[in-house]
Amino acid sequence: MVKFNIDAAVEIPETHSRGRFPLPSGKTPVQCQFHSPANPTIFFTTSSVSETPEHPYLATASELTAWLDTLPTGDGVRVALDTEADSLHSYREKLCLIQMAVGERKALIDPLGISDLTPLLRYLDNTEIWVHGADLDMTLMKRTFDHIPERLYDTQVAARLAGERQFGLAHLVEHSFGVTLSKQSQRADWGKRPLTPRMIEYALNDVHFIIPLADRFLTRLREHGREPWFLESCADARLSVLQRPPPDPEEQWRISGSGALKPQGLHYLRAFWRWRDKEAERIDRPSFKIISNDELIAFAQGMQEGKEPVLPSRYPPPFHRRFYKVFKEAKAAPESEWPRRPNRRRVERNPDAERRFDQLKGKRDRLGTELNIDGALIASRAALETVAQDASKAGELLLNWQRELLHV
Ligand SMILES: [Zn+2]
Repeated sequence: MVKFNIDAAVEIPETHSRGRFPLPSGKTPVQCQFHSPANPTIFFTTSSVSETPEHPYLATASELTAWLDTLPTGDGVRVALDTEADSLHSYREKLCLIQMAVGERKALIDPLGISDLTPLLRYLDNTEIWVHGADLDMTLMKRTFDHIPERLYDTQVAARLAGERQFGLAHLVEHSFGVTLSKQSQRADWGKRPLTPRMIEYALNDVHFIIPLADRFLTRLREHGREPWFLESCADARLSVLQRPPPDPEEQWRISGSGALKPQGLHYLRAFWRWRDKEAERIDRPSFKIISNDELIAFAQGMQEGKEPVLPSRYPPPFHRRFYKVFKEAKAAPESEWPRRPNRRRVERNPDAERRFDQLKGKRDRLGTELNIDGALIASRAALETVAQDASKAGELLLNWQRELLHV
């Protein structure tokens, strides 16, 4: 078990408002900047890899259960949670790390090393989970465990409903606590082992501030009577992830920019997209690293104009061979196999609905200004368009608090 220590608290003297600062001997300074010297704060730093049991890296099932056994459980226990994946580095994105903080205690859990995480899920089900920007984390949990803990709350949603317009974790932490988080490991390959001390530090920082942020925004939400909005929004976000259909393999190649192509261009785009997908799978890299969407669209566009694609010379010969094989086959395919352009629903003009839409949108925007929140939180433009056409759709498109505000 690798252990490390993140709690060596360092009082930052006012003179060190920015940049590195002296630390007790043996500690590695964290790469962060402090913007609020007037606000006396205690910060933490990591020693690179030291032997303290406080914040363990749990790489086996027995380590995990032993650690979980020492944690408080039940109602009222709040867990800050974050996950890291390898979407920038592999063909099939996978859950690579789970970070947890319960009170002062933190751990990194290795889902690549522990095949059965049932004890963790059981623990999480009995607590209150807080995540920042939970959509990706919930998506990974659904894919990996086919399960998302029921009481899962998102500090990002809380921040937005409390009126924050910039709601990334780094921004909120800086704004609320005067700490600049390092972004250095954001794009790291979380599927690699061992994790570097810098990645460990980054991963632990991601859960360090979540509960303090939750408290801050919950207080504001309660003051404004918006806690019920928040609870309903979180429950709905969780359900939408659980119910989100998987991507349709027959339609996945319709990448952004494809809407402007004619059937001939779509035909080549589909062929090139499938070539890219196979290459990505072959070398286990994300497909954007093989070739960009823009380049694929340009190839397809070129074919419509009679310009044959030229694969840049940076690709090794086998890539070229397979690409031109796919290209030849696409060229030989009969027109009857060309895909259709997407059916554009022809919406007949409906002056009554347009008037209702204008009214609803006006109301939404006024409410947004009055409440000092982004109007899109109250209702999306698309939802308002549909409701203006058919008021009976409000129930499925809007949450209760949104409908109450809009009186629909
Ligand atoms: Zn993270």
